[in-house]
Amino acid sequence: MTTIEQRLRAVQARVAAAAKAAGRDPASVRLLAVSKTWPADAVREAAAAGQRAFGENYVQEGVAKVEALRGSMPKEGLDGPLEWHFIGPLQSNKTRSVANAFDWVHSIDRLKIAERLSAQRDVHLPPLNVCIQVNVSGEDSKSGVAPDEAAALAKAVAALPRLRLRGLMCIPEPTDDAALLRSRFALLRALKAELADEGLVLDTLSMGMSHDVEPAVAEGATMVRVGTAIFGERTRPAAQA
Ligand SMILES: *Cc1c(COP(=O)(O)O)cnc(C)c1O
Repeated sequence: MTTIEQRLRAVQARVAAAAKAAGRDPASVRLLAVSKTWPADAVREAAAAGQRAFGENYVQEGVAKVEALRGSMPKEGLDGPLEWHFIGPLQSNKTRSVANAFDWVHSIDRLKIAERLSAQRDVHLPPLNVCIQVNVSGEDSKSGVAPDEAAALAKAVAALPRLRLRGLMCIPEPTDDAALLRSRFALLRALKAELADEGLVLDTLSMGMSHDVEPAVAEGATMVRVGTAIFGERTRPAAQA
């Protein structure tokens, strides 16, 4: 087994154990492999081990990787095409390539970005799946809409024709305080429940990374975004968006 395959299996086991500990079906949590800074060959290796969904943070790097891998995957032993998720900060002058190269965008925090993605999504493609990124830590420096503005943004985004609002996403501040992390993830879960009460039913909570998969799954994550624990420590700083 390759190193990437071994690490992938270990992460799958962590997710499954966390789900079972929370009384959840392990199949209710999807694993997104965050391949930012890693070459297309690393994605091929993970794909050969069965991984389908990949996350990228940087527009130029991500689009180049999507295009490098499109149609180049060996068909044998694979169960369908790769699914690409954009999870990084997105500026309005970069929306067009993201709208057409990716299947999902997790980092919507302004209506203007969502409107551009909807207008620019190719009519021949299915609607772009999106999540609203919520700033659950209240830090000025972090992207994401404030929790008390999330519902209004979600309703506006849900009305856009070429987008399909799937859920909420968060990146808590880095901390070893397990109780604090749980409370951040619990806030996102509560926001999703509030939206459901108001008639906006969403199926996705995108939360949890290499170091906090367990608390995220305990609080209801349906998609965890894991990079380092699958591909290893990133050796170069990621290119800028
Ligand atoms: C890099 C990144 C991840 C993965 O982080 P790891 O700690 O490497 O697992 C997840 N989500 C987002 C938004 C990221 O930028």
